[in-house]
Amino acid sequence: MQKKFYIKTFGCQMNEYDSNKICDLMNTISFKKADHIDDADCFIFNTCHIREKATQKVYSDIGKIKKIYSNKKKPIFVLAGCVAQAESSMVFEKSDYVDIVVGPQAYHKLPGLISNFLKTNEKLIETDLNVDEKFDTLKNLKNTESKVSSFITIQEGCDKFCKFCVVPYTRGPEYSRNHKKIIEEVEMLADQGTREIILLGQNVSAYNDNGLSLAKLIKKISKIKNILRIRFTTSHPNDFDEELINLFGEEQKLMPQLHLPVQSGSDKILKLMNRNHTRLDYLKLIEKFRKVKSDIQFSSDFIVGYPGETEIDHLDTINLVREVGFTLSYSFVYSQRPGTPSTELDKISSEISKQRLEQLQGILFKQQIEFNHSMVNKENIVLFENRTKDSRQFFGRNEYMTPVFIENTLINTGEIKKIFIENANRNNLFGKLTEHI
Ligand code: SF4
Repeated sequence: MQKKFYIKTFGCQMNEYDSNKICDLMNTISFKKADHIDDADCFIFNTCHIREKATQKVYSDIGKIKKIYSNKKKPIFVLAGCVAQAESSMVFEKSDYVDIVVGPQAYHKLPGLISNFLKTNEKLIETDLNVDEKFDTLKNLKNTESKVSSFITIQEGCDKFCKFCVVPYTRGPEYSRNHKKIIEEVEMLADQGTREIILLGQNVSAYNDNGLSLAKLIKKISKIKNILRIRFTTSHPNDFDEELINLFGEEQKLMPQLHLPVQSGSDKILKLMNRNHTRLDYLKLIEKFRKVKSDIQFSSDFIVGYPGETEIDHLDTINLVREVGFTLSYSFVYSQRPGTPSTELDKISSEISKQRLEQLQGILFKQQIEFNHSMVNKENIVLFENRTKDSRQFFGRNEYMTPVFIENTLINTGEIKKIFIENANRNNLFGKLTEHI
């Protein structure tokens, strides 16, 4: 009987991209995706180590799988991703249910690891940081997913060493993929129905393939027939050159929405975090973007309650949020990650952090709602991605990434349509085809 695997992805978009590739790899050893959680011969958890809670969730979910299979044959259990890289052999101490530990730069070895485990039944660890080898293996894989909007990893790792962040340790130093191989992958995706490309990297704005910058790569991708939209994420504010900034005003396919993490609005905290830019540097950068593209919108990440944060620092963050007018943001209470320098600093009271988070999120959510409401009675350009469970309803995204729902049976996936927005809430817009008004 054909063996089945079940994959669960935790964390960021890059993990989603990696999980898709892991699925393609599993197909090469004749494992097919299981439809149900209780019907798998192999489990793969592709994990995230960015916050303590995310790591705890991984172990608690392993416990749940153990329970489900308590009266059945034990599946092979693979722990992949950043928890695997960071905790390595400690994983086996924390959970004896795990059989294989594989890091984010070594998952291309998974087929070999699984067949070795099947032969020997011995626990295995693979946490090499050989990114070249990984992408050389992945490029030969047949892509089994066809999506209107597809992620593609173009850069991995980071040299910035922000004091709270595990990425430089779990994903290794900055690495940029060969641009020709990226173009080939995008062309293949376009042939399979992709219309929007989201370029991924832990510090994607630092992309540099022997002098070929992110701006130049985007220009090349924009020439690919059938690629209608391009986005990239996540960036560091210090890695934007004039060419990349100006591209927002020049390249129609580059969408007017940018995720630009700032983490804090306080110069003191930015320094403690080793972000290497000031609040003013950030605001000046925002200004530059607005000069070349007046309707550009920004989203960001915030860490609340970083060690040393006072009420004044928190107010600096709130003021920055108001000044920029972010339309979407991700905010979390500071979480100590083992091995990062910030663990040596004294934590501030979790009660105070929670209160500050609530206050900040209240403002961020209000701005998000206001922005979405500003779309009502206006026309939005929407790329349609799929039908929802209700077969009459279609889902797409406008240029600012906001989900748009319409009731229509005549649209095809991958089409761009003008939609008249009739209603909005914090997360979504609702409208109808302009030509039907
Ligand atoms: S720039 Fe981003 S990925 Fe790099 S260390 Fe800082 S937070 Fe982490």
